Amino acid sequence: MREVNSRKAAIIGCGFVGAASAFALMQSGLFSEMVLIDANRRKAEGEALDISHGLPFAKPMRIYAGDYDDLTDAAIIIVTAGAAQRIGETRLDLVRRNVEIFRSIIPEVARRDCGGILLIVANPVDILTCVAAKLSGFPENRVFGSGTVLDTARLKYRLGEHLGVDPRSVHAFIIGEHGDSEIAAWSSAHVSGVPLRDFCASCGCADEQVLRGIAEEVKNSAYEIIQRKAATYYGIAMSVRRICEAIVRDEKSVLPVSTMQHGAFGIEGLALSLPVIVGRGGAESQVPIRLSGQETLDLQASAATLKSILSQIEL
Ligand code: NAD
Repeated sequence: MREVNSRKAAIIGCGFVGAASAFALMQSGLFSEMVLIDANRRKAEGEALDISHGLPFAKPMRIYAGDYDDLTDAAIIIVTAGAAQRIGETRLDLVRRNVEIFRSIIPEVARRDCGGILLIVANPVDILTCVAAKLSGFPENRVFGSGTVLDTARLKYRLGEHLGVDPRSVHAFIIGEHGDSEIAAWSSAHVSGVPLRDFCASCGCADEQVLRGIAEEVKNSAYEIIQRKAATYYGIAMSVRRICEAIVRDEKSVLPVSTMQHGAFGIEGLALSLPVIVGRGGAESQVPIRLSGQETLDLQASAATLKSILSQIEL
C-alpha cells in the first residue's frame, strides 16, 4: 500500500455537490493537491480550471482532472457520484441505480490499494456507506458517510436563530438515517452547557411545538431547497470541508458521521449516524450519547427502515 499524502484529496463525481465541495476545499487551504474525477471527463476538466482560477486569492495547490490511478496516495477520497431521482421513480429504484454506480467506482478505488479514507456523500448515504464498506474491503474506520453532519448543521442554524445565539454555541445532534427517519436528539441538546429546555425557559421560548417544528423543517430542508433550485450543494460542501478538516488536522472532533454499527442501541449490520470521534484515523470511535426511551425507539425504527432497504439489495 502506497503511503498517503495527507495534503491530497480526491473527489469522484463533479456535479453540483462535487464541484461545490472542491470549491470549499480549495478555499480551506487544507490541501496542496486535489484531483477531480467524473464519468464526464470534460466536466471534471472544466471544474478544475474554473476553481484553479481562484487560486491567486487562496493558498497554493494543484487542482486537476484525473483518473483512478491518481487516487493511490490521496488521504481522502470523497464520493459524490450519484444519479438524481427521476420523476415517478421509487426511492428503491434510485437506490438500485446508485448502487450500480458504486459497483463501477468502488472496486476501481480498491484495486489501487489506496491507504486513504473513503468519505461517502452520494445518497442514500447510509446505504451507500454499507455498499462502499463491503465492496472496498477497507477497514471500517476508513469508510464512512457524511451522514447527518449536514442535518445537524441545519438544526444548529435553526436553533441558533430561534434562541438568538451563535449556532456554534448550540450543541445538538441529528442522528439515525440521513433522511425521513432521522431523529433530533433533544434530550442531550444544550447551549454551552445549559440544557436546551432550561435555556429555552430562561429566554421565554420553551414551546415543544416550536422545537418539533424546527426538527420537521430540518428533515424537509432538502425537499424545500430542491423544489426551489433543483439541488442542494453549499451546505453539504461546508460539511465535507468540516469533516476533511477534522481528519487532516487530526482534531478528534465529535461529528455525527455514518458508520457501520456493531450493537449500540441493539443496532448492527448497517450504517447510520451517531456521534463519532473523527481524526487522522478516520471514524476513530463512537461517543456514547444518552438518549431518552422514545429517542432510542425512534433510532431503532430508523435502523429498521435502513435494514429493509439493504435487504432488497444484492451485494
Ligand atoms: P449531479 O447529477 O449534479 O452530479 C453527479 C455527478 O456524478 C455527475 O457529474 C456525473 O457525471 C457523475 N457520475 C455519475 N456516475 C459516475 C461514475 N460512475 N463515475 C464518476 N462520476 C459519475 O448530482 P449532485 O447534485 O452533485 O448530487 C450528487 C449526490 O450527492 C446525489 O446522490 C445527492 O443526493 C447527494 N447529496 C448528498 C447530500 C448529503 O448530505 N449526503 C447532500 C446533497 C446531495
